[in-house]
Amino acid sequence: MDLKEKAALVTGATSGIGKEIAKALLTEGAKVAVNYRSDDQKKEETERDFETLLTVAGRPSSDLLMVKADVSKPAQVQKMFAAIDKRFDSLDLLVNNAGIQSETPSHELETGQVEKEIAVNLTGPILCCCEALKRFLKKPRPHGSIVNVSSVHEEVPKPGFLPYSVSKGGLRNLTRTLALEYADKNIRVNAVGPGTVDTNMNSKLSDPKVRKETQRNIPLKRIVQAKEVARSVLFLASDAARNITGQTLFMDGGLSLY
Ligand code: NAD
Repeated sequence: MDLKEKAALVTGATSGIGKEIAKALLTEGAKVAVNYRSDDQKKEETERDFETLLTVAGRPSSDLLMVKADVSKPAQVQKMFAAIDKRFDSLDLLVNNAGIQSETPSHELETGQVEKEIAVNLTGPILCCCEALKRFLKKPRPHGSIVNVSSVHEEVPKPGFLPYSVSKGGLRNLTRTLALEYADKNIRVNAVGPGTVDTNMNSKLSDPKVRKETQRNIPLKRIVQAKEVARSVLFLASDAARNITGQTLFMDGGLSLY
């Protein structure tokens, strides 16, 4: 791919899908800002893994920037982008990956839970898109790419997960609106829509019965792997997808066809 020396930000990138996306970008030669929410073991492990990857490839450790921010907090998002400005010359790619999910019957939802989920899954990506767009437009020849990590549930309702379904539905129009608004500035905005992926978010899959039943309900009978999502993000971010904007690439084993 053609991502060598491009600068990217991946949000929520110390676990699951985000970590695989950041790893794939680093492997392709990109400089990566890895966003994380809190200083914990996952952050330490990710930093160690990625530093090793750079050392083995003979690249400077400055190609990796670990940057702390809660993406739902405007002041923290601004600080995160300021840190990226300081380290990298420019920004070429934003991957909005951070997300949370909770299950509650809709009539039992509390305001705080709704606000939090929408803030992380939808307001966060909007704030990050606005900051990234400013940087894409500031270049002598404006260009850039955004990939939102959405879900099959931007298309297929998920009963019991109202704030999640609503926020992913919102991401669909975030993707499409920005794609149209900035197409003439050489900025592309797309999304990936994974189905069921083997990550912490789906910890129920560690129960063999649940796993079997889940697989049975997927047309292709496969649970998606985080690495596979990462490959699709790389494709959408690269010039191989230069004619693609405003689209969600579903990788759901056919779930969205039901
Ligand atoms: P995950 O829980 O491993 O990853 C989510 C990441 O987001 C974590 O690293 C977490 O720390 C981070 N995060 C949460 N709140 C944050 C905040 N306020 N600020 C910054 N970071 C924050 O789960 P995952 O499956 O890797 O999820 C990644 C994305 O993929 C999410 O947007 C999720 O909705 C989407 N997705 C997951 C699945 C699945 O089946 N696992 C399916 C479709 C879509």
